[in-house]
Amino acid sequence: MHHLLDPSSPLDERLAALGQPPWRAKAVRRWLFGGRAASFDDMTDLPRALRTALEGEFRIWTTTIVTHSRADDGTEKLLLALHDGQRIECVLLRDQERRTVCISSQVGCAMGCVFCASGIDGVVRNLTTGEILEQLARLARLLPPHERISHVVVMGMGEPLANLDRLLPALAVAQDPEGFGISQRRITISTVGLPQGIDRLAAENPGYHLAVSLHAANDDLRTRLVPVNKAIGLEAVIDAADRYWEASGRRLTFEYVLLGGINDSAGDARELVRLLGRRAVLVNVIPYNAVAGLPWQEPSAASRDRFIDLLRASGMNVQVRRRKGARIDAACGQLRRITPPAPAASPPA
Ligand code: SAH
Repeated sequence: MHHLLDPSSPLDERLAALGQPPWRAKAVRRWLFGGRAASFDDMTDLPRALRTALEGEFRIWTTTIVTHSRADDGTEKLLLALHDGQRIECVLLRDQERRTVCISSQVGCAMGCVFCASGIDGVVRNLTTGEILEQLARLARLLPPHERISHVVVMGMGEPLANLDRLLPALAVAQDPEGFGISQRRITISTVGLPQGIDRLAAENPGYHLAVSLHAANDDLRTRLVPVNKAIGLEAVIDAADRYWEASGRRLTFEYVLLGGINDSAGDARELVRLLGRRAVLVNVIPYNAVAGLPWQEPSAASRDRFIDLLRASGMNVQVRRRKGARIDAACGQLRRITPPAPAASPPA
């Protein structure tokens, strides 16, 4: 069985072999992405015999929804079981007109950032292109017919630049007007800062918005918080980010998780200002979201405000990420491939 959502699946070839006209593949894709068909039966303008034939050769879904949680702020989270029993999460965020989906790129994560739930058990495997797209398709179906996904952030589980081979074809479909039709500048890839991956992206496809997770402005602290920094070092991360900026011409984002008493002092803010210098960047400050079992503290309101004020006073663009979906553990850093208690239940809306 082929996965219909996988761009490499032989839909065009099979339709041709079944004697179908060339435009038929386009019609199927329109049902899939625009019409959000959940089954071949939903594709009502396809001849019945063709629907049955396709059903025997292609499957639309390789995942099942284990839980679907909804928070009061409009955030929805899906816990998906993959064909091999592994689990991933993806999130739909509503913010005024925006309909942003946050998707995962790997099962677990190998980066080991000490404040993040996703890496607690390490990485199990990369997601396939089809599995990455299936998150978009599943989340799109949560929207009413007149609404569309407007933004994609690859900020769920995993390190996207460690799985570029499968991510890039998925994002190509996300942008394709005959796919999900989401403009490329509304697609953000967030990375722990892997210079080789950043350079590859700059060479192949610098149109995506890149967000680099910094979290500290000196190597000692960054290595403590982001263990992969030990082998990379801040200078190499910043240099790669600069090269991406040159290739893309778009403003970069640096993310900075604010951990109370760890990286939120006035000195930390000044060090960050010095590190980023005169670069035209956006600093996205993310107050720590509590992860059960981890010892970190949220920053106090006073230290958070002082941190932000010091950055702004230096002329920096700063955005504070508002917490969304915290009650359903859908906020940044809270996604984890948990095994839910059996039997899996869907909480009521
Ligand atoms: N691997 C990518 C995507 C991670 S998720 C990366 O490292 O960028 C997106 C952002 O959420 C990252 O900046 C990540 O460091 C941050 N994050 C992780 N755990 C968090 C937590 N508990 N609270 C707030 N932000 C967190």
